[in-house]
Amino acid sequence: MNIPSQTDVQVQRIRAIGLTVMNCDRSLHFYTQALGFKFVSDITVAAEDYNDLEGVTRANIRIITLQLGDELIELMEYLNIPSQPIPSDSQSNDLWFQHLAIVVSDMDSAYTHLRSFPIQPISTAPQTIPPGNEASGGVRAFKFKDPDGHDLELIWFPPGYWVSGNTKLYGAALVRLRERDFEKVIHKGGISPEWPLKYQDFEPYYTQAEKLNDFYWGEPDFPYPMGMVQNTGNVLADMIPAEAPPLMAPFVKLIPHFERHLLAQRSVGWWLQTEDLPDPNNQIRVVGDKIHIDYTLNNTEASDRLIHRWTSVLKSIPRSAKHVLPFSIYPRTHLPEQAVAHQCGSCRFGTDPQTSVLDLNCRTHDVDNLYVVDSSFFPSNSGANPTLTIMANALRVGDHLAKRLR
Ligand SMILES: Cc1cc2nc3c(=O)[nH]c(=O)nc-3n(C[C@H](O)[C@H](O)[C@H](O)COP(=O)(O)OP(=O)(O)OC[C@H]3O[C@@H](n4cnc5c(N)ncnc54)[C@H](O)[C@@H]3O)c2cc1C
Repeated sequence: MNIPSQTDVQVQRIRAIGLTVMNCDRSLHFYTQALGFKFVSDITVAAEDYNDLEGVTRANIRIITLQLGDELIELMEYLNIPSQPIPSDSQSNDLWFQHLAIVVSDMDSAYTHLRSFPIQPISTAPQTIPPGNEASGGVRAFKFKDPDGHDLELIWFPPGYWVSGNTKLYGAALVRLRERDFEKVIHKGGISPEWPLKYQDFEPYYTQAEKLNDFYWGEPDFPYPMGMVQNTGNVLADMIPAEAPPLMAPFVKLIPHFERHLLAQRSVGWWLQTEDLPDPNNQIRVVGDKIHIDYTLNNTEASDRLIHRWTSVLKSIPRSAKHVLPFSIYPRTHLPEQAVAHQCGSCRFGTDPQTSVLDLNCRTHDVDNLYVVDSSFFPSNSGANPTLTIMANALRVGDHLAKRLR
């Protein structure tokens, strides 16, 4: 079949989908309240050209435009001409059946919310498309009718890929397997066999595992964030003197290399990270031809509590446990200033030029074609490893730039 390309026929995109409705106000209420559409405009047209366009003479048409994500719909009410209702016996197999699919992030909540409105269901309840359907296996969907009988669908797509669970808490790569990873996977060089259990069997435990850092949000006697804990893996013998607490360092240096190696082999490293709070006096300046950092440590109570909390967790491991030495020490040290790694927020983004450098698209408030998409856009440090957020934001701003340059 010879299919013309988009450039051949000069089409570009779908601007909006129009729905003729009986009562614009009723539909406006439904689409904004039940489905979260945003109001864009409300106009009434009666011009002859417009009538010619619609093929309906002497019509006064009220058109309300609504937006969901990047998509627009137009609700059109013919104010002075009666409209025929959709046949009450209309079914999904009728030729005039067409529907809008509305993507939701949580089917159960969206469905519960929707059911508080007087909708007419088409599906009996949200349905999961069987895994055998290659294009849509695992997708959940629910079809229903709007107040005029237009067919709509809530649709939920399973996440294609989980990165780092709750990335607010983890910086390291803690990746959930995808649902397909539990199936037989045919590689070019061989076959990974099907797992005897599936993603759904692991799902609750994934969530539980990601809660390891729950005390990030504080404890009963300290209802403030304390920070997060990451395992740094093994300890290297040569790093012990450099990372030892200042008072211990001179003695550690005296330990012969072989014994230091044994010590390293029997040690576990932990990285504890507490959020550095925004402080206008903590800043980077150019002084002469040098970069000068002004920095005063803050939020120290939270950090101290986190260290004590984690040390007590480690101490609570029974000495009788396998691989635990009966005598353990828990030396701690702070990262020196020259080892800064998570600098954020030197060009904050925000809506107010008085308190931010960048607007929400990371364009400087003052210069039209200057964008900044590194970690400096953060309004505060967030207390979590920043890179995934920096990358996500760079992609988000890239999308904006591509649209702007179109
Ligand atoms: C030791 C260490 C470990 C870290 N571990 C983690 C971690 O596990 N997880 C995590 O999320 N984050 C981690 N970070 C933090 C993370 O690396 C940074 O937050 C992140 O890379 C910052 O990204 P960015 O794009 O803002 O800047 P950068 O990644 O620093 O990119 C800036 C780029 O600009 C270039 N550049 C500078 N000046 C100029 C110039 N004049 N002209 C042209 N190019 C220039 C630089 O060469 C560089 O490539 C770590 C940082 C360090 C130092």
